Amino acid sequence: MPKSPDEIIREDIGALNGYTVPDSTGMVKLDAMENPYRLPGTLRASIARLVEQAAINRYPDAAAAELKVRLRDALGVPRNMELLLGNGSDELIQTLTLATARPGAVVLGVEPSFVMFRLIAAFAGMRYVGVELREDFQLDAERVLSAMVQHEPALVFLAYPNNPSGNLFDEELVIRIIEAAPGIVVLDEAYHAFAGKTFMHRLERHSNLLVMRTVSKLGLAGIRLGVLIGPGEWLKQLEKVRLPYNVNTLTQVVACEVLQHGKVLTDQAAAIKLERGRLLRELGRVPGVTAYSSDANFVLFRINHAERVFDGLKKRGVLIRSLHGSHRLLENCLRVTVGTPDENTAFLAALAHAVAA
Ligand code: PMP
Repeated sequence: MPKSPDEIIREDIGALNGYTVPDSTGMVKLDAMENPYRLPGTLRASIARLVEQAAINRYPDAAAAELKVRLRDALGVPRNMELLLGNGSDELIQTLTLATARPGAVVLGVEPSFVMFRLIAAFAGMRYVGVELREDFQLDAERVLSAMVQHEPALVFLAYPNNPSGNLFDEELVIRIIEAAPGIVVLDEAYHAFAGKTFMHRLERHSNLLVMRTVSKLGLAGIRLGVLIGPGEWLKQLEKVRLPYNVNTLTQVVACEVLQHGKVLTDQAAAIKLERGRLLRELGRVPGVTAYSSDANFVLFRINHAERVFDGLKKRGVLIRSLHGSHRLLENCLRVTVGTPDENTAFLAALAHAVAA
């Protein structure tokens, strides 16, 4: 008799709740920070032609050489820095943890933040230390600094802007953390397109800093492409952990083409930022709602009976994300992704009904 999963699967994995993705069929989908706009027809047609020609009988270019050239240009990567590509930035978080998971090694993050930092640390068998943010979701630098002295983390993850709070951390405080960290500090700039601020230009000054980007929130979530940028001495080690063909041919082809028309994406990001302003204003008018200002493409808000409101929205065909119960600071909090003007109007109308019900 073979053993049961209980006996074979690691106990800590058995005890985990994995990352869940709800079914969104037929819903106004405002739960996953996607760009609501599709690419223009002409660009889609040129992608179709490139896909038609792509040699998918062959393995992809393992070095993704052309894509890296385009990304360097599009992201403004300093010349003396290297790039490591991932199947989404999730995979880069995994690469970082696998490469640093010495026995007893620690990952440090702030709470609440992107849950995959904690989950992937657990996958790699690393200890995760979560340092609570202040009530206003700003960094509590003293707590982070003393946690670093106590736990000597191999890796520190800071999302800039932070998910789910949407804010940028104070730059000076982040610099103090980078300067005091005994290991790598990863600035996860997934929402950079909506924030404008970056640590990219600081890479040359801090040898333990890595900057992570993704094309997911920009309008290319479906192709799965993340980028880690930093000094060669770190990246050449991380590169060994990367699976050989992790960025597939179709992703490389599509990303190269779209990056040559980067203005399409920045225009869409500008439209999303405008709508974010409107969402914030309108949410502020809903009785009992506290909406937090955002530098990302989503808005966090607190509302009485959040779970009931979330269910009410769902019943009316609008899917957002409930964070109630996930952290002490997120009590009665919901997070809505900025959609198209029509989607946002539908959300606001459904919210008014859900609150009144
Ligand atoms: N970092 C942050 C802060 C995120 O919020 C997300 C996705 N929600 C990711 C990384 C993962 O992005 P990707 O699609 O590139 O895996």
